[in-house]
Amino acid sequence: MAVRFAVSRWGAAPAAHRGPLVSCRRWSGASADTVYDVVVSGGGLVGAAMACALGHDIHFHDKKILLLEAGPKKELEKLSETYSNRVSSISPGSATLLSSFGAWDHICNMRYRAFRRMQVWDACSEALIMFDKDNLDDMGYIVENDVIMHALAKQLEAVSDRVTVLYRSRAVGYTWPCPFPMTESSPWVHITLGDGSTLQTKLLIGADGHNSGVRQAAGIRNVSWNYDQSAVVATLHLSEATENNVAWQRFLPSGPIALLPWNDANHTDFIDSAGTVLQHAIALLKPTKVSARQLPPSVARVDAKSRVLFPLGLGHAAEYVRPRVALIGDAAHRVHPLAGQGVNMGFGDISSLVHHLSTAAFNGRDLGSMSHLTGYETDRQRHNTALLAATDLLKRLYSTTATPLVLLRTWGLQATNAVSPLKEQIMAFASK
Ligand SMILES: Cc1cc2nc3c(=O)[nH]c(=O)nc-3n(C[C@H](O)[C@H](O)[C@H](O)COP(=O)(O)OP(=O)(O)OC[C@H]3O[C@@H](n4cnc5c(N)ncnc54)[C@H](O)[C@@H]3O)c2cc1C
Repeated sequence: MAVRFAVSRWGAAPAAHRGPLVSCRRWSGASADTVYDVVVSGGGLVGAAMACALGHDIHFHDKKILLLEAGPKKELEKLSETYSNRVSSISPGSATLLSSFGAWDHICNMRYRAFRRMQVWDACSEALIMFDKDNLDDMGYIVENDVIMHALAKQLEAVSDRVTVLYRSRAVGYTWPCPFPMTESSPWVHITLGDGSTLQTKLLIGADGHNSGVRQAAGIRNVSWNYDQSAVVATLHLSEATENNVAWQRFLPSGPIALLPWNDANHTDFIDSAGTVLQHAIALLKPTKVSARQLPPSVARVDAKSRVLFPLGLGHAAEYVRPRVALIGDAAHRVHPLAGQGVNMGFGDISSLVHHLSTAAFNGRDLGSMSHLTGYETDRQRHNTALLAATDLLKRLYSTTATPLVLLRTWGLQATNAVSPLKEQIMAFASK
């Protein structure tokens, strides 16, 4: 089992204010720099998946793509017996994206865990909500981040003729063409790397995390604040065998605590098949949709070395695009992990942006033009702002023990639990 919980601390840091720092350049003549069609700055989960998706897109077969990553390449030729403490809950929609360019097959051949039920409950009342899939579809998957990165690296190698990956290569400066007069201006974005080398691109995609240098250099305003909480993650060992396909989350006033199912090599296969048989039997016998309260499994011990702390915050870029620039992933939005949606939102950005860019490439249009980049922005801001607002509201609503608010959330949770179509809507939204 993987655990994560958020703990409160006093003295939240003030919100970061970033002024416009747009650097615009005069064009002095010819340059020997390589011109890429697309440069993705930042090779985390989202940036690497973006480069992969473009590299495998049929309309990008003649394009040159570059992925820049400041850190080293993480090799994972053999899975360690110890599970990594960095895992993500991956939605079915994200799994579909990863399948579309072959990465999901590698994940399935390595290690992951499907979950089919989720129980969320309040520490201050008896209110609870249970999500389950009657048809035994998977609700999501728990996957180690290293396994996802390994799968992406494999699929990047498969398209190395069109995607170049530069590890240990930090972009330290970006300059944009001056809008007026067009004739004096180089049409492309110029990028300077830490070693002093330079290159150019028709479209720069910022996937460089929540402190995005691309966003700052483009002068895009970012609304952000730190929560008075940090996330603690750890690997837990259970004291008894369980069905191990339920995700648990309890809202304590000091922050939510979640238990995510994970493998146990000793009894996984037995538990898995026994659990499936039992669920089939229950599905046949159950007359109506009843959500019975379950008790989470008890914990035997914590892997001491697996404990790590992450500061938490919210961030949202006022714009996702500018001429020749697009932001994706945490560079565009940072969310509290209580809903396990951060990387799923980033993968949703990729599906949308690739769709718009692929259409532009098919029609022979300029990839950096606002005419299709704004389509991406509209699609994703609509989805992401709703999720950010809902997550922030939940975080605030459950941080209090004030009786009226406890009553309000108790009724809200009970009412939502009782209305199946509403629960199905929530599940459908979170599955994207
Ligand atoms: C405790 C915790 C649990 C979470 N659980 C989940 C979950 O269950 N499900 C989920 O969907 N999300 C989850 N998230 C959120 C998720 O981890 C993030 O949303 C996701 O990792 C963001 O990926 P990214 O690639 O956009 O950014 P990052 O992971 O920050 O990657 C940015 C990359 O850019 C590189 N970079 C930065 N600057 C430069 C530069 N100048 N030049 C070159 N490279 C650069 C960095 O080295 C880095 O590799 C969780 C987050 C936390 C903290």
